[in-house]
Amino acid sequence: MTFRTVVVGAGLFLLLTVGLSGAQAAPAPNQMPATVTVPQEAQPGPDFNAEAATNAYLAQIPSAATARSNAYFEGGYWLILWDFLYGVAISLLLLNLRWSGKMRDWAERITHFKFLQTMLYWGQYLVLTYVLGFPLAVYEGFFREHQYGLATQTFGAWMGDEGKAILLNVLLGGIAIAILFAIVRRLQKTWWLWGAVASLVIMVFGILIGPVFVQPIFNTPKKLNDPKITTPILSLARANGIPVHDIYEIDASKQTNRMSANVSGFANTMRITLNDNLIRRGSPEEIQAVMGHEMGHYVLNHIPNSIQFFLIVIVTMFALLRWALAWALARWGEKWQISGMGDPAILPLVTLVASLFFFTLTPVMNTFIRTQEHEADMYGVNASRQPDGMAQAAIHLGEYRKMSPTPMEEFIFFDHPSGRNRIYRAMQWKGENSQLFAQATISAMPGMPGPMPMPGQAATEKTVKN
Ligand SMILES: [Zn+2]
Repeated sequence: MTFRTVVVGAGLFLLLTVGLSGAQAAPAPNQMPATVTVPQEAQPGPDFNAEAATNAYLAQIPSAATARSNAYFEGGYWLILWDFLYGVAISLLLLNLRWSGKMRDWAERITHFKFLQTMLYWGQYLVLTYVLGFPLAVYEGFFREHQYGLATQTFGAWMGDEGKAILLNVLLGGIAIAILFAIVRRLQKTWWLWGAVASLVIMVFGILIGPVFVQPIFNTPKKLNDPKITTPILSLARANGIPVHDIYEIDASKQTNRMSANVSGFANTMRITLNDNLIRRGSPEEIQAVMGHEMGHYVLNHIPNSIQFFLIVIVTMFALLRWALAWALARWGEKWQISGMGDPAILPLVTLVASLFFFTLTPVMNTFIRTQEHEADMYGVNASRQPDGMAQAAIHLGEYRKMSPTPMEEFIFFDHPSGRNRIYRAMQWKGENSQLFAQATISAMPGMPGPMPMPGQAATEKTVKN
């Protein structure tokens, strides 16, 4: 079988699948309760107990829904392994059948400019690996999401988004890869260090342009003008020193039932975005708790901190690449028809080493992110003072996350604290701040002093100053 017949064959398979799936069944509805109420055990009072309140919240989830989200999330553990092994197999195929060398040869015949050669190689590499990886990607990204009632797109619409993503990747990814290979060719001794720095700069550039230029290609943000939702959020933003004037809504329901929100941009592009699933399904308390969490990410500088962390990760990865690529080229370079580090035909080998690196690093990456998410949770409940809203959000997010994992499972696989932990932290906060909830009664009594200063406020101000 030649390289070309495989591409053509896989392309036909792709078209056939698109044609066959015109009539998609309606997605299964979500299984979690649409409105979550505060259970008796979580009501403020002298007998309030965080553990009992947490269990009462968890008991609101129907057992069938728990089984379903556990199955979905645990399936995700295996997908990490299958994605890794499948990717390794594709890389080995491209190297051992010398398809990578052939793609490089073709690019060299088209143009003499090294930069363009690398971009042309990248375009072929991307399309070929997409086609080869399609069976697993379509299961993971489309069929499985529908099976669990999380996706809302027809196959055609999903493929449309995939097509847009590939085009973007061919173009923007191509420029990035060509820059990196130019560095490798020019700096033969120190490329791994400068390559790491350049990767980081490219990543930061991506974070900056993403919300403004990339997101609108897939979804349409529009200004949210419902004062019932915007007034408390803008008030929360002002109270936390966040210079934002506009709140946007994004039509995420086009693709998914998942709820989310974010604070993005800087200076003039600073904005808060809520997705329409959150607005449609969340209670006002829940929306405020979620917004407090997102503001926490912003105020606690989680993006700059992640960039610093990622610099360490990426330098380590490039150091590994320098050693591993040299080692593999000395053994199989000739067989794979790769002329050296600066030859784009080396890319499948780079992918293989990088995926091995990140596969091994799964618990480390997850723990770094989960720690930040925990910080944002604590900031959010202090800022919003909506522990019950936070518990409700944790239950809604439990549609696709296991609520009560073992500590080891949480350490390895969770990039957010588990639902049980998030509810427990919120209930603990509620217990420690019981005076907030009894306040209305106290200040209404004659002869009592006015409202007490809110403990949440003090904590928030302290954090903002950092
Ligand atoms: Zn978060």
